Amino acid sequence: MPTKISAPRGTRDLLPEQTGAWDHVETVARDLSRRYAFERIEIPLFERVELFARGLGETSDAVEKEMFRVSGAAGSEEERAEWALRPEPTAGIIRAFIEHGMHVRAGPLRVTMIGPMFRYDRPQAGRYRQFSQWDVEVIGDPGPAVDAELIELAHRFYAEVGLTDAVAHVNSIGDARCRPAYRQALVDYFSEHLDRLGEDSRRRLELNPLRVLDDKQLAPDLADAAPRSADHLCDDCRAHFRAVLDLLDALKLRYVVDHRLVRGLDYYTRTTFEFVIAGREGQQQALGGGGRYDGLAELLGGRPTPGIGFGIGLDRTVLALEDQGVAVPEATSLVAVVGTGDDHADRLMVAGRLRDAGLRVRPDGSSRKLGKQLEAATKAGATWAVIVGDELGEDRVGLKDLAVGEQVTVGVDEVAERISG
Ligand code: AMP
Repeated sequence: MPTKISAPRGTRDLLPEQTGAWDHVETVARDLSRRYAFERIEIPLFERVELFARGLGETSDAVEKEMFRVSGAAGSEEERAEWALRPEPTAGIIRAFIEHGMHVRAGPLRVTMIGPMFRYDRPQAGRYRQFSQWDVEVIGDPGPAVDAELIELAHRFYAEVGLTDAVAHVNSIGDARCRPAYRQALVDYFSEHLDRLGEDSRRRLELNPLRVLDDKQLAPDLADAAPRSADHLCDDCRAHFRAVLDLLDALKLRYVVDHRLVRGLDYYTRTTFEFVIAGREGQQQALGGGGRYDGLAELLGGRPTPGIGFGIGLDRTVLALEDQGVAVPEATSLVAVVGTGDDHADRLMVAGRLRDAGLRVRPDGSSRKLGKQLEAATKAGATWAVIVGDELGEDRVGLKDLAVGEQVTVGVDEVAERISG
């Protein structure tokens, strides 16, 4: 017998019993996108490696360690090494923004998408090689009001999906003007403590010192005493950060200022934020995160354009819902249409009319005994059975409540009302 083939490591099949929670989370995301006036955008699943190398930074984990390369079947060696699956959507969206000259549109652009991202990381709980994000971006708005609006939107998302204790961690990492001095302050500080840094952090110290603060192995006392970006901001960045925090206070949102929150990618400027479940900061990976990227468009060959966005991890949101035992809204009642003998045309016709009335209907396509069909209907999760028989001549059918066992004869047009009533 041929051997079985399993799914690639770090990927998951979402089975029908799991997708109810996903539908719920995606429905909330889509509905909020509409209510917050975001428009849908779609970009390719793969892009040129150079886009990520330039946009995210050569020393980011996403580029340095986790790039998921794609090779075409034909073409030169060079051509084959050219593409990577997207590890995040912002670089691709800004590429599209520049490529299509979208800066000429009126007002800041508000776009959203839901889709899979790919990072060739070591798989573990809550960390997959393919995962999904709900992403929103506002391009062309320097903030600070929009910064607070996005943090409020993420808060509302977690509340509406049913997670009550999500908290925002926020920070500002300055801009091209004030960041160099902060970087130097970190280099000076950590250079004094080289013996207490792991190998990764020592390397980061040379290439991207902010990311030393990202190191989960960093000793807490060393992290606490490290220079804080908030103390090194230039006047403009400090005023911007203060304004964001004042707005969060005015909106009564739950947040903490987290001096270690530098985010992993080079393109971030000023506001950065991440969401975690309160009280589980240490153990749990972030549920979502984002930040401002005022220098990204220029880095990718466009004109200077401020921007801010977030990516919420749908996998981790669903895991958190399961973890907290949050009940997701049930699908509407399932109605089975059963009958006798070979009356399949009648069953399909009745099913069609019930669907016209908005019901969720599953006709039995077999010719087994009625009792067997009813048994199968209950097993499939149906709570009602519509029984097609001789009464159909008078446009009537049997309606059986499968939970209680009661049966009545009603007009086909009355079924929907009976079920919802
Ligand atoms: P990041 O840009 O790395 O902060 O990613 C944004 C969000 O996507 C994170 O907060 C996670 O919820 C989710 N995420 C990132 N990487 C993974 C992964 N490997 N597996 C599952 N979810 C992820």
